[in-house]
Amino acid sequence: MLSLARKIFGTETGRKLRRMKPIVDKINALEADFKALSDEALKGKTAEFRARLEQGAKLNDLLPEAFAAVREAADRAIGLRPYDVQLMGGIVLNDSSIAEMKTGEGKTLVATLPCYLNALPGTGVHVVTVNDYLATRDSEWMGKVFAQLGMTTGVISHGKSDQERREAYACDITYATNNELGFDYLRDNMKYSIEEMVQRGHAYALVDEVDSILIDEARTPLIISGRTEDRTEFYKTIDALIPQLGDDTYEIDEKARSVLLTEEGNEEIERLLRENDLLKEGDLYDIENVSIVHHVNQALKAHKIFQIDKDYIVKGEEVLLIDEFTGRMMQGRRLSDGLHQAIEAKEGAKIQPENQTLASVTFQNYFRLYKKLAGMTGTAATEADEFHSIYELEVVEIPTNRPIARIDNEDEVFRTLVDKYAAIVDDLVDCQERGQPVLVGTVSIEKSEQLSKLLSDKKTFRDTLGHLYPKDDAEIEAFKKSGRPDARPLKDMLKLIPLEHNVLNARYHEQEALIVAQAGVPGAITIATNMAGRGTDIQLGGNADMRMMQWKAEQAEKGVEPDEAAIAAQKTVIAADIAAKREIALAAGGLYVLGTERHESRRIDNQLRGRTGRQGDPGRSKFYISVQDDLLRIFAPERLDGIMKTLGLKEGEAITHPWMSKALETSQRKVEQRNFDIRKNVLKYDDVMNDQRKAVFEQRIDFMTAPDVADVIKDMRHQTAEDLVTEHIPPKVYADQWDVEGLATELREVFGLDLPVQDWAKEEGIADEEILERVTEAADRAFAEKAANGGPDLMRRIEKSFLLQAIDQNWREHLQNLDAMRSMIGLRSYAQRDPLNEFKTEAFALFEKMMDSLRVEVTKQLMLIRFERAPAAPEVPQDITATHIDPRTGRNAMGAPDAGPVASRVSPTQRRTSEPADPTKPETWGRVARNAACPCGSGKKYKQCHGAIGSRDTET
Ligand code: ADP
Repeated sequence: MLSLARKIFGTETGRKLRRMKPIVDKINALEADFKALSDEALKGKTAEFRARLEQGAKLNDLLPEAFAAVREAADRAIGLRPYDVQLMGGIVLNDSSIAEMKTGEGKTLVATLPCYLNALPGTGVHVVTVNDYLATRDSEWMGKVFAQLGMTTGVISHGKSDQERREAYACDITYATNNELGFDYLRDNMKYSIEEMVQRGHAYALVDEVDSILIDEARTPLIISGRTEDRTEFYKTIDALIPQLGDDTYEIDEKARSVLLTEEGNEEIERLLRENDLLKEGDLYDIENVSIVHHVNQALKAHKIFQIDKDYIVKGEEVLLIDEFTGRMMQGRRLSDGLHQAIEAKEGAKIQPENQTLASVTFQNYFRLYKKLAGMTGTAATEADEFHSIYELEVVEIPTNRPIARIDNEDEVFRTLVDKYAAIVDDLVDCQERGQPVLVGTVSIEKSEQLSKLLSDKKTFRDTLGHLYPKDDAEIEAFKKSGRPDARPLKDMLKLIPLEHNVLNARYHEQEALIVAQAGVPGAITIATNMAGRGTDIQLGGNADMRMMQWKAEQAEKGVEPDEAAIAAQKTVIAADIAAKREIALAAGGLYVLGTERHESRRIDNQLRGRTGRQGDPGRSKFYISVQDDLLRIFAPERLDGIMKTLGLKEGEAITHPWMSKALETSQRKVEQRNFDIRKNVLKYDDVMNDQRKAVFEQRIDFMTAPDVADVIKDMRHQTAEDLVTEHIPPKVYADQWDVEGLATELREVFGLDLPVQDWAKEEGIADEEILERVTEAADRAFAEKAANGGPDLMRRIEKSFLLQAIDQNWREHLQNLDAMRSMIGLRSYAQRDPLNEFKTEAFALFEKMMDSLRVEVTKQLMLIRFERAPAAPEVPQDITATHIDPRTGRNAMGAPDAGPVASRVSPTQRRTSEPADPTKPETWGRVARNAACPCGSGKKYKQCHGAIGSRDTET
């Protein structure tokens, strides 16, 4: 039915492609004109296009000419003339959509087309790549095309300074990884002046490998965090409370791995907390106490859910988690939100400091900042719904330049892992003998390494692949004699190994690009996860550029500097060698992609398959499956067992059967759905925070750019006065019920004012408005005096820096509260309430509260300021780190925390040594010796110049 409908109505993609045809024709028609241009004239096109935009031309009207210019420039600069299908890809990318283009179709080049066009308005274009190596490689390679058109190209990579980043962002086109972009955004919003910021807006982003970035990596947010103060005692105190709770004070839900206090438990814990002075005002579920209750719950979980030697082990002073599927220790992984500390407290281990979130954002929300977003990848169709619903991106499949000649074999399914791996090894040996290059795909770095061990060292097989094989020769003999079915493939395998091979583990991108580029050489066996060597295309016979690079490096090592002739000669040699090898590889069937396991999603399987069969080359792909694979074991056990029984599969036998494929797909769909739910959930909660974050960040930028914030400060002062007066003298309440005493005390505390409120209250017929007026006036007067004392200029600067600092401090605390609340909110659903709604309501209440305390804090600080020395620096968290946990590896994808300028937060009073003091900005001076020359350049001593203000207490 469906295919019939397609025949009659055509597919959506078909219609889109047809609509593009006239545009492509137009670009083709312009080709001769652009070819005739001199280099200068071609470059001049950029200025011409920009002028036309100024005069009101629309970007899309310029598309055909701009694309024709890029095509010509690419041909001249790097010798690549974009094919028609590449132009189509470019059109889709300009149209805020996702272009699905197969591997090897030249997406790197395609990107130049829409990027050039969208860089014309001068607002900056960001090209997003999955790793630094690709960002650098692509920016250098494609930078030549942009330079040919008079445009600048920059690259952001880990470890660059703010100044370098600023320069790179100022370019027409900027290449960077998603992590660097997201972190620069977060860090920018922790800066204290506009000049310190590195990004200059979010106009157009083109995301390469868009599925990896917007789907796979979007399961975890980007977080900038700092260590908080030592809270060992706090954890110990809470921990000590838990054993005092009786059995009927909590309920355990084994399946959900959760534990809840009963009504009785709540009362009990409330009493205990009060006894220990831990409960602030109010009761257990008041907003103020969110954090305490959170920690109680974590401690409860640590005691009642987490079991030693099952969930974790204690090694020395450390609590190490155990992976529930593999049973392995997870070194360095820590549970978040204080749970790890709670377990440490329970076990009497050393309590490691917590990390406090300073700023965080999800990729979903970061990329939604861009006015225009587009993406490209080889595999997007299976996730089209998600792209549409979250990012409003349509997926358009672009046809390949040449027809695909790859053969995708059916999966081969085995009962045991041993059988499967034995068959894989057989297959690999056969390939190596026939000269067919193989790319072996695994689902994790660990599995790649296990397989590599299996191929290189027979004796480690037992330890790494589930205790299946004997570890020494004697045991092997004994094993063979026992005749256990497991031992069947053993004999064959031992004869075959070791096999020569390469392993990639996605750690050293550059090196791995070199290896992957050679994965098409006859007989090569390359083991990799789907992430390793990404973005590097595998050419049959080898990669000439890479071979040249290697040769040059070898020559340099020998101290030889080859001349032009030698280089040309070597090029010919390499070209001939590659051509010969390509013939062998072609004859052997092209690149063979062997999957050792199905991935969690069909899309990743497709990514792997897609690495062979580029540009019409022959190729083959096949997955090996065993019923003991994680995917099947966890997600489809009953079903499989049934199928196996029905088919009567025996040990050592393999089957290929549509039922199996169906079961597999069902499992994959289940995982895909679960992962989508996780991402949606992350996003739903982040959305709540996102509105607040946007509001705070926007306000911050407004404050930073404003010449001064005196009006804001004044409003805050007035509002604070009003709140104080209303609190103690509620409207329409008789004067004898007024809390004048309280008001006087608070006025002293907050405003530093000694006002005769008691006397005022005794005046005949005085109303609350009158009192408020007097308070406000007195506050304004006192503040004006202070300002006059310090000098209005300095006062304006102080106001601004106090305000920004207070925003940051309060925002950080707010984030912490939100985190705590979020991890607790799940408990509310117990009471039949929707957790997300609860979270929204409470997050809003917390936000309001934060704004209130911000107002009071700023007012108080400014009213109490005395000009004896520079304002005190706010408490700044130590050891600031950036994290983005890669959901697939569980590792921090941000590299070593100390390797880059992840946080350059500089408070106005802490001078960064790397930046010189600015004579016009006292906030950059830091501490100045009183007898030193004043940094403003007046020639006077500091104490007689800027240091002299408010001279009252300064000479002590
Ligand atoms: P993808 O990212 O789509 O897998 P790449 O951008 O890595 O592909 O490009 C694959 C290869 O195709 C590169 O070696 C590139 O030089 C080559 N290529 C791309 N476009 C063209 C073109 N128009 N003409 C010739 N070669 C091209």
